[in-house]
Amino acid sequence: MSQPKKIAIMGSTGSIGTQTLDIVRANKAHLQVEVLTAQGNADLLIKQAIEFEPNAVVIADETKYKYVKDALDKHDIKVYTGADSLCQVVQMDTVDIVLAAIVGFAGLRSTIAAIEAGKPIALANKETLVVAGALVTDLAKEKGVSIFPVDSEHSAIFQCLAGEFNNKIEKIILTASGGPFRGKDKKFLATVTKEHALKHPNWNMGAKITIDSATMMNKGLEIIEAGWLFALKPEQIEVVIHSQSIIHSLVQFEDGSIKAQMGLPDMRLPIQYALFFPQRVKSSFPRFDFSAYPSLSFEKPDSEAFPAIELAYQAMKKGGNMPCILNAANEVAVGAFLKEEIGFTDIASLVEKTMQKASFIAKPGMNDYMESDAEARKIALALAKKAVKA
Ligand code: NAD
Ligand code: MG
Repeated sequence: MSQPKKIAIMGSTGSIGTQTLDIVRANKAHLQVEVLTAQGNADLLIKQAIEFEPNAVVIADETKYKYVKDALDKHDIKVYTGADSLCQVVQMDTVDIVLAAIVGFAGLRSTIAAIEAGKPIALANKETLVVAGALVTDLAKEKGVSIFPVDSEHSAIFQCLAGEFNNKIEKIILTASGGPFRGKDKKFLATVTKEHALKHPNWNMGAKITIDSATMMNKGLEIIEAGWLFALKPEQIEVVIHSQSIIHSLVQFEDGSIKAQMGLPDMRLPIQYALFFPQRVKSSFPRFDFSAYPSLSFEKPDSEAFPAIELAYQAMKKGGNMPCILNAANEVAVGAFLKEEIGFTDIASLVEKTMQKASFIAKPGMNDYMESDAEARKIALALAKKAVKA
């Protein structure tokens, strides 16, 4: 590696974004920050900008633009605002790779813009592939753009596939920690609070994905994500509960052999692998110690208590805009749960009802996704209001 790779970090103030900056800090000779973006955390964005001196920053929330602009006045850093700017900065000539770590549907447009400009993508924003997997993967193929998975399960599979060339995958097994409510039944789940649900046993992540992990919708989204990344049918994707989160996922080949990728749960590893692929860069991350984990356990997910996985399979099998509807309804439901407007078990039922009510489109284009997302949000919001009254 001669010239440092110039990176655009979309969602730099989040859990993935800040861990990516840890990696940049440890690899200054090889990585350089070109763009930083945030929704509303202006103070952290300013602090990051002063430390990493990017070419440009975007504060998406327009009400915070002046504050950020004034704070960076004496620095040679361009400051932009608004959602459209997110799409423009990823296309700058000076950007070598885009780390897509905005949460939710909001990350879709800038990721598509980056692919259109031929930029390789390190993809954390799984919702991008859930919502518009066909469009995104077709566009990436057309533009010759690589999408490197950051999600730990998908990185694990990607690592297991290295060197396998044309060897066919029989199936993949996605591991799931089971979240904070593993082993609990529906009755218990109906009583859980936001504080409960925000305490993940193994990972420290943003609020939305932490709730998704508690409902297991996160695994549902990952099933759909894996389908697009590795060209797999729903029946080729299995989920196993592995509460220690040491095996990050597995691939079974046609000869019956299974490869697994292991390590301590630490997102910096998949982020770094995505940024430096195909090279493995020396790291100082803590190492796995077998004596600290005398046994690893595996169990079947409980689909009655956690219906979200089944809903995701249904959406994947139906295809078209159904995963987009599932995602939009889930974003609304998680938001309502975080505002304590609906209960924990209402999340999955709200998603299910929205999937039944929203208009189905078999072959959606970009505008259809936008409209479908808006329609599903409207339906889900109305259902959430009803749940409040009930
Ligand atoms: P987070 O909430 O911690 O951070 C989200 C980032 O996106 C923040 O920088 C925020 O400012 C920005 N953002 C939010 N809404 C925005 C909007 N409307 N417009 C522009 N920017 C916006 O989330 P996270 O945990 O870092 O997750 C980011 C993505 O990575 C998610 O899609 C998540 O599913 C995925 N992911 C996260 C982890 C993890 O360990 N955190 C693991 C695997 C995958
Ligand atoms: Mg994951």
